[in-house]
Amino acid sequence: MNNLLSLLLIFAFALSLNAQVRLEYAIVIHGGAGNISPTFISPEREKEITDKLSEALETGIGILELGGSGMDVVEKVIRILEDSPLFNAGKGAVFNHAGKNEMDASIMDGKTLNAGGVTGVGDIKNPISAARMVMEKSPHVLMMGAGASEFANANGAEIVDSGYFHTEKRWNDLQKQLANDKLEKYGTVGCVVLDKDGNLAAGTSSGGMTNKRWGRIGDVPIIGAGNYANNNSCAVSCTGHGEFFIRYTVAHDISALMQYKGLSVEEAAYEVVHNKLKPAGGSGGVICVDKHGNISMEFNSYGMMRAWANSKGEMGVKVFD
Ligand code: ASP
Repeated sequence: MNNLLSLLLIFAFALSLNAQVRLEYAIVIHGGAGNISPTFISPEREKEITDKLSEALETGIGILELGGSGMDVVEKVIRILEDSPLFNAGKGAVFNHAGKNEMDASIMDGKTLNAGGVTGVGDIKNPISAARMVMEKSPHVLMMGAGASEFANANGAEIVDSGYFHTEKRWNDLQKQLANDKLEKYGTVGCVVLDKDGNLAAGTSSGGMTNKRWGRIGDVPIIGAGNYANNNSCAVSCTGHGEFFIRYTVAHDISALMQYKGLSVEEAAYEVVHNKLKPAGGSGGVICVDKHGNISMEFNSYGMMRAWANSKGEMGVKVFD
């Protein structure tokens, strides 16, 4: 009997060593990955970017401190980035081949596995809010173009004239790429959160690629590719060459490696970004948070604009490697 008791005690002790303490909350934000290096970004622009990421981060922390839901944080944070011309989403969305903006967004609730997305929308001021409406106010997961706008409008989303998305910089980028017959990736924004209730949420929003044509859709609105959240594993938001993120189902693959293979969030993100995507030629990065509040920000490009914080008071904002 004594032996059995000692065995049980040893087992319980071993379990407690292995069990991770869950942080109250954690949040990670990205503003896109790619050719983000001091060669391409001036110190003034770097400061503008870090200021905006900090503002978004502080907003997210404020809601989390008060016990707000991860879904609310993801939507509010992404709206701030969508309203800024600095990032390729919402106001700063890139132009397609025809000189129009076609935006994508998606959001996912890790508790229920409910998700919503919009694709190819050109007049919704904040596509992330429309994505949430699709999730919460329709029986569907993904809506496109004019139909998505009609639905969002009927549910109270702000609809704007297409001129709202016209920024000089993005227009000039399109002219350059038209002249060189190039198609380039240009960032995206995203946010992943663990809230005080232990729920995970993820959101991603993008203008896609400059000079895209034929109704090209990237990974951003596709659940499991550019966005995924599951309370049993992690929340993931991606940025990079969308075609690769779709083919490698990047966001879900990270979750699956954790769930089925027992990898940590850092190991799973590293495996997918460096050992799968990179050899295949897929450049970009991911932000992830797991159910304990551990985070990962892996990228195989020059840089990724990112910001992070947790309830232990750890935080940071970075643009370059
Ligand atoms: N993933 C986005 C797309 O392919 C672009 C990016 O994140 O850079 O549409």
